[in-house]
Order: sequence, then C-alpha cells, then structure tokens
Amino acid sequence: MKRPKITVIGSINMDLITKTTTIPKIGETVLGQSFHTIPGGKGANQAVAAARLGADITLIGCVGNDEFGKTLKEHLLNEHINTTYINSVEDTSTGIASITVANGDNSIIVAPGANYQLTVSHVRSLEHVIANSDMILLQLEIPLETVEEAVRLSAKHQVPVILNPAPIQKLSRNLLTQVNYITPNEHEQHELLSLLNSDELEQIRQKCIVTKGASGVAIHQNGAEQLIPSYKVDVVDTTGAGDTFNGALAVALSSGKSLNEACHFANAAASLSVTKLGAQSGMPTLDEVQQFMG
Ligand code: ADP
Repeated sequence: MKRPKITVIGSINMDLITKTTTIPKIGETVLGQSFHTIPGGKGANQAVAAARLGADITLIGCVGNDEFGKTLKEHLLNEHINTTYINSVEDTSTGIASITVANGDNSIIVAPGANYQLTVSHVRSLEHVIANSDMILLQLEIPLETVEEAVRLSAKHQVPVILNPAPIQKLSRNLLTQVNYITPNEHEQHELLSLLNSDELEQIRQKCIVTKGASGVAIHQNGAEQLIPSYKVDVVDTTGAGDTFNGALAVALSSGKSLNEACHFANAAASLSVTKLGAQSGMPTLDEVQQFMG
C-alpha cells in the first residue's frame, strides 16, 4: 500500500472516567473506586486509528490553553500525528467527557469546550492542507457549519470525504450530496435516512457504509445490499470500534483499495480493537491487522 495523506478535522477530548458502585443521585456524594484520564474525542480517536495503520495524518482541531490540551497534543505527537494545525484557544477549556461507570451502566457529561471553537475561518485558512490531502475524514463533534465548509473546500479540490455522522444530527441534503462516503452505525442510519424523500434516499444510500457491530458492515452495490461480515473475536470492550473502523476505512480507500477490500480491512482492524480494553489503547497496528487477515 502507498502511504496516504489523510486529514482528520474533528474533536479532541480528555475522557475523565470514575468507576464506582452507584451513580450518585442529585445532592448525594458517593465514594469512587478508581479514576482514569484517557485521551478521546472521535476526531482524535480516528486520527490515532489511521496513524497506527501507516498513514500520514494531520489533525485539524482545537484544545484549550490548559494542562489537558498540552497533554493531548503531546500524546498525538507520540502517535506520529501532525499537530501543527491544532490551535490552543485562550479562555476555553479543552473538551472533556466526564464518565461515571457503575456495574456496567454509565452516565456521561460531554463539555465540548474548545472543540466548538473550531470555526469556519480556521478551516478556510487551511484550504491548502485540505487541497494537499488524499482523503478528508470528518465526524460531528465540531460545529456543523465548520463540517459544511470543510466538505465544500474538499469538493472544490476534488479530495474525497468520509463523513462519520456521529453523534447524529439533522444534515442538509447539500452536505450529504457532496460527501463521498457516509459511515453511520445502524441507529444513525435510521435517523439519517428518515429525513430524505425517495429519490434522495436512493442517491444517499449508495454512499452509505453501515456498521452493524458484530455482524460487520453493509454496503449498497448495483442496487442491492451486500453484507461484509466481521471477524469472530472474544469481545473485551467495544468502545472505539466505530472510530477504528473509520480510521481504517480512510487508510484503505486512500491507498487505492476497492470499497469491498477496504471494508474487509476495516472490519479486521475494528474487530481486533474490541479484543482490548479502551478506545485508543485497543487500536491495532498495520502489522497486527495484516497478520490477523493472514
Ligand atoms: P459503533 O461503535 O460506532 O456503534 P459498531 O458497533 O457498528 O459501531 O461497530 C463498528 C465496527 O466494529 C463493526 O462494523 C465491526 O467491524 C466491528 N465490531 C464491533 N463490534 C464487534 C464485535 N462484537 N465483534 C467483531 N467486530 C465488531
């Protein structure tokens, strides 16, 4: 495979995870068992997945001018990701997800902070970076108008775009028409397609690569749905499976693989990721995926 240049434009978070036995009610204080800070955010996760699989990754995003921001940028550099275009924004915190885990249940607060300072003008000033990429990878944890501008600039320079529509929200037909691949999970697909009329539905369905957990992934080719099965593995933690899938898909498609081959490759990477604990910590290297696929 040639080494593709992929630009990810998206969120960078620190996940703050507290393990406890009971989730506190309003006004209540409970003791936690342990506390962990783990790098996350869909943009950063997908950038790490793609970098481990041998692509040249540039991540465009924003962190706060604080300790989490510094730590996350260093972490991304250690993953061989180009962090030149990650802005440190004054007077805003780095994005965080505060996650409480109790007996398999969880409750989560996301404070997007600096991720929402990734503006249209920031992306516009980086048109040359977009134009020099083989592929653009986007999610929806930054302002929607910024995603729309990134897609417009990519189309202008004929750079293909993968849009991972998570967390799902209402998207304009213009946006859906301009992107090349859309990668919802089953739940997101349902919401995405429910907003379209039948003509648009057919057009957008062709671009959808729908991830279906342990079953694998569904694509539409020549008017028929085709299921590309995933691999049977011992599941430890499915957090980040979708992010690994998207990073791997971007690497495979921008290396010239067919859609079918790319989905096999991304299934292999994502199924390997669920055999380990944590989102980024479970993401495999290219060697691991190639060995696994045999
Ligand atoms: P999300 O994490 O975004 O909800 P999915 O659950 O659909 O996405 O998982 C994304 C991909 O991860 C799947 O298409 C598949 O390749 C892989 N995957 C997820 N769960 C499993 C599993 N239990 N066994 C094997 N592969 C899995």
